[in-house]
Amino acid sequence: ALTDNRSWTPAWREPTPKSAYDTIIVGGGGHGLATAHYLAKEHGLTDVAVVEKGWLGSGNVGRNTTIIRSNYLLPGNTPFYEHSMKLWEGLEQDINYNAMVSQRGVLNLFHSDSQRDAYARRGNAMRLAGVDAELLDAAQVRAMVPGLAMEGRRFPVKGGLLQRRGGTVRHDAVAWGYARAADQRGVDLLQNTEVTGIRIEAGRVLGVETTRGFIGAQRVGLAVAGNTSRVAAMAGLRLPIESHVLQAFVSEAVKPMIHTVVTYGAGHLYVSQSDKGGLVFGGDIDGYNSYAQRGNLPVVHDVMECAVQLFPAMSRLRTLRQWGGIMDMSMDGSPIIDRTPIDGLFLNCGWCYGGFKATPASGWCFAHTIATGQPHALNAAFRLDRFATGAVIDEKGAGAQAN
Ligand code: FAD
Repeated sequence: ALTDNRSWTPAWREPTPKSAYDTIIVGGGGHGLATAHYLAKEHGLTDVAVVEKGWLGSGNVGRNTTIIRSNYLLPGNTPFYEHSMKLWEGLEQDINYNAMVSQRGVLNLFHSDSQRDAYARRGNAMRLAGVDAELLDAAQVRAMVPGLAMEGRRFPVKGGLLQRRGGTVRHDAVAWGYARAADQRGVDLLQNTEVTGIRIEAGRVLGVETTRGFIGAQRVGLAVAGNTSRVAAMAGLRLPIESHVLQAFVSEAVKPMIHTVVTYGAGHLYVSQSDKGGLVFGGDIDGYNSYAQRGNLPVVHDVMECAVQLFPAMSRLRTLRQWGGIMDMSMDGSPIIDRTPIDGLFLNCGWCYGGFKATPASGWCFAHTIATGQPHALNAAFRLDRFATGAVIDEKGAGAQAN
């Protein structure tokens, strides 16, 4: 069936690495590719290479459950994630690529009076920051998600916090779209090129050692997600990051049964339905550190239990596929986009469960930080030294509770 496609032109070039670039971004995931795009588009920096050890999009950007939202509580987070949401809303026009941005809503269920209070507080904080939020009662939730088991369960559904502008985006299209846009502006995308060392002299970065030889650079930005600790160690940095596996699952395709994204408030589950009909769901991280892109059975068990608890009809479905990705878990649940103590070396990491929704704003802010040498106001709170100073952004409630 694909025979007719032989004459398709590739979406980006396969350039030979130059001996040096102005800027190198390590990691061809969503954040690295978005950074390259915004470096070229917003700052006119096109002497840029993205160095990726596998193929573009082979990491978490192509492994996540595709949920986007900006329903955060704390001032350090809310404006950043709302900026991301606004970039999502214009992304397809910006990069001229169909990323299937679907603002079908994200509904966080609550199951007790105290949880309702916490969600009302979060919704109020969002509205004060100019972000949309609605508190739904049980009847409104029932009307919106008919398949939910509302009562007769250990944790009855009492209502939900809805962000209508939240939703899903086709994740690998985001990688491909940013890649093509960056390539068209002259960025070199170097696939199958692993960074094996970072050359530093007198406290200044000089470039990266790779499996295709040394490549010089004035500035190097690390955007390697789950591999952050390992790559940063090449520059002698020890970071407040732990790597854990997060798994995702897809069921066989069924007729439309969930029209929004639903998250469980009494366990770790988030579920939506893809345009092909498969239910896409995930839960908590595996409870031990790992760099393996595969998960283990206790989380599978837990996620399936939560799913059937909420949607009894799901007990009849077969799960078709499962996979895992490596999460760069920061110690306060919030990211780092900052300079490092090494001149010319910049850091983007700590995305925990939720870095996909951040992709546009992360790239935009990281590009600003690299191009100007200073963080933008939107990422000023995501400092590396906050774990030493105590200015942490402890938002596990919204950040980790649902993707
Ligand atoms: P990646 O795509 O992992 O990019 C990093 C790249 O760096 C990789 O391609 C890797 O190969 C490369 N690399 C590593 N080491 C080197 C090296 N030495 N040299 C060269 N290249 C290197 N977030 C949400 O917001 N919503 C969700 O619904 C959601 N669900 C998730 C579900 C799962 C199962 C997983 C795994 C993650 C989920 N996330 C979600 C989190 C989100 O996917 C990540 O936080 C985000 O994708 C990380 O940024 P990235 O895209 O740049 O990472």
